[in-house]
Amino acid sequence: WLNLKGKIAIVTGGSSGIGQAVVKELCQLGVKVVNADLSEGSFIDENLIFLETNVADRQSVEQTVNEVIKRYGKLDCLVNNAGINIPALLTDKQGNSDYELNDRIFDKMIDVNQKGVFLMSQLCGRVMVSQGTGVIINMSSESGLEGSEGQSCYAATKAAVNSFTRSWSKELGKQGVRVVGIAPGIMEETGLRTIEYETALAYTRDKTVEELRQGYSQTGTIPLGRSGKLVEVADVVAYFMSDRASYVSGVTLNVAGGKTRG
Ligand code: NAD
Repeated sequence: WLNLKGKIAIVTGGSSGIGQAVVKELCQLGVKVVNADLSEGSFIDENLIFLETNVADRQSVEQTVNEVIKRYGKLDCLVNNAGINIPALLTDKQGNSDYELNDRIFDKMIDVNQKGVFLMSQLCGRVMVSQGTGVIINMSSESGLEGSEGQSCYAATKAAVNSFTRSWSKELGKQGVRVVGIAPGIMEETGLRTIEYETALAYTRDKTVEELRQGYSQTGTIPLGRSGKLVEVADVVAYFMSDRASYVSGVTLNVAGGKTRG
């Protein structure tokens, strides 16, 4: 039904978590997948290649995109999935600057989550525009719409990504390229969530990692009453990438178990 066999996709950050679930699903659907990550993941498949890539570095991104075009001669889809989260408060009530957002954290978050999306989209977008076809899928977050206590910088980068999705869909639409976003809510645990637990101790000093983990699993505020499976995001990626979504562009879809805010 989705008819993705033979399509070429780059998935950034495909070695872990949501990205790995996307890589697996696209490989199963017969897509030739390029995992562009800092290091290789554990999943191996005949449809998958790994190209070491730092999305925040223009030269690295150029190398990867050039290699993909050299190998496959075309690019159908870019999934801008790579992302980091370094939780930090704007100000700590006890005045401890170790728990506060600083220039280093701010710059790193912007570099990966925002500049990385820009660089990948520019280099892949040029290819897609010259082909007159292509899809860019931006991995956002529910926090990009809602804001998030202790994660303001992360949430701001995701809000920026939502804005990129809207603007680039307007710029590229007439040239045959769709740009869409996905905003996952509370998901099964990933590498990113583990880092969140560890660093979130900064602003909930009275809690242990185990207590934080239990907090996440209290899913009472989620209408569907559970956290999301990673494959439930991958399914949406496959749909968005397919021609079944040929009139869908410029939107960011919440995949958040019924929590809605747009
Ligand atoms: P993860 O930490 O498990 O995986 C992220 C991957 O990105 C890693 O493999 C990492 O090596 C890679 N990466 C990091 N910096 C990179 C760089 N500079 N260049 C290339 N690759 C880089 O994280 P995840 O939870 O699977 O998150 C994936 C995406 O989904 C992120 O954009 C995240 O913001 C978003 N998201 C996750 C959740 C969640 O609950 N896990 C919720 C909402 C949104």
